[in-house]
Amino acid sequence: MTYLGAHLSSAGGFYKMGQAAVGIDANTFAFFCRNPRGSKAKAVDPEDLQKLRELLAAEGFGPVVAHAPYIMNPCSKDEGIRALAAEMMAGDLRLMEHLPGNYYNFHPGSHVGQGTEAGCRMIADMLNAVLQPDQQTVVLLETMAGKGSEIGGRFEELRQILDMVALPEKVGVCMDTCHVSDAGYDVRDHLDDVLEEFDRVIGLERLKACHINDSMNPLGARKDRHAPIGEGTLGLEGIVRFITHPRLRHLPFILETPHDTPGHGKEIALLRQTIGER
Ligand code: FE
Ligand code: FE
Ligand code: ZN
Repeated sequence: MTYLGAHLSSAGGFYKMGQAAVGIDANTFAFFCRNPRGSKAKAVDPEDLQKLRELLAAEGFGPVVAHAPYIMNPCSKDEGIRALAAEMMAGDLRLMEHLPGNYYNFHPGSHVGQGTEAGCRMIADMLNAVLQPDQQTVVLLETMAGKGSEIGGRFEELRQILDMVALPEKVGVCMDTCHVSDAGYDVRDHLDDVLEEFDRVIGLERLKACHINDSMNPLGARKDRHAPIGEGTLGLEGIVRFITHPRLRHLPFILETPHDTPGHGKEIALLRQTIGER
């Protein structure tokens, strides 16, 4: 069965979030380790996380993909903001050790005028400061739409970061279908070519998870506005081609479309029906 899920709220506890995932026929999901707006870490409740871990194993879940706070910017001009990014990631990764063998995805950040080179260097510096050789979580760089001074709109930029990381086996990539399309990679009509390019530049073995979002904007728009599945430029067909592609179909696919959890449940049902899984 394809690993399909959505971004869920951990506000009511981690085990509850797992139950919510089961309730919408998901077998993977994404979540924030802390309040998404603030930087404050939650007190870790090992029992709650243990219960989630058992639930995921019992229900045959694929890997889950935690998401770093949106306010994290590891390549900010401001040293304090960079330090905060490292602190948040380190804290989230400590929590993730209670859910071993999963992923933690983050936006590489915006270099705000410092240039791509300097930005990539700062992102790698943070990873080198935070990653531990014995950690059981693989951290994922997300492909971005390339709006403003955002890093990660080009596969080459992600490759630059990966090349500077001291623990390469602890870092992979998460591909977001809305973002790559907005960045100019035609995953709707030329998916084979895009994957070929990804493989050449980064290596497909580094691709560990995908966000499946339709896009409100045309190819190359550099906007990053997610649309519900089937209501954007990728279309239901484009998304289905993506999740059934032989080089991708084993990966966890996470919806981040503008819906609440019941709406995501409907999208999962639609996708499972379309690919003949229900
Ligand atoms: Fe993201
Ligand atoms: Fe995303
Ligand atoms: Zn986005």
